[in-house]
Amino acid sequence: MEASTSKRTRPRRDADDGTDTVDEQRRQMALRHVRQYPDPVLRVPTDEVTEFDEELAALVERMASIMGDAHGIGLAAPQLGLRLRLFVYQPEEGMAEAVVNPKITWSSDETDLDEEGCLSLGDAVRVPVRRPVAVKVEAQTVSGKPKSWDLDDYYARVFQHEIDHLDGVLMIDRVEGDEFRSGAMALLRPRP
Ligand SMILES: [Zn+2]
Repeated sequence: MEASTSKRTRPRRDADDGTDTVDEQRRQMALRHVRQYPDPVLRVPTDEVTEFDEELAALVERMASIMGDAHGIGLAAPQLGLRLRLFVYQPEEGMAEAVVNPKITWSSDETDLDEEGCLSLGDAVRVPVRRPVAVKVEAQTVSGKPKSWDLDDYYARVFQHEIDHLDGVLMIDRVEGDEFRSGAMALLRPRP
């Protein structure tokens, strides 16, 4: 999931030291690794991770670095073209944690509607998505240890968005209301 624009450093062309421009360049470089809609890999359900080895640890490191540079709050393996049931998210600024083989074991009946963005759908597409306010998630860590999360509000939303990616589901599939859906689809139409 993409960080909201307010949380993101916007490039300022008048910056004296060029820091913001460098940051934006790094973001654009990272986004080149992220598969973009309508890449079919974003629609393929993933397979459970079975090997908790050095290769997995290296993949998690790579995902964390791309997520950080791209200013994402979460990044799922299919977004890098990999059919693996795994995502990384940012529990705190500058941190990253892997969530491997996640399952939602409980969702609240209460839902709320909030805007989401996605690193695979471009900056322009931000849509309101209704989701349960709270969820419980069981998963494994990068070393294969069981771990569970009791989440509400923002992180409940981040986890549900990322777990959707692992099932081949995108936020645009969950948009309520024809006007938002057609607005988002118009922005996603391939440009000449
Ligand atoms: Zn996404």
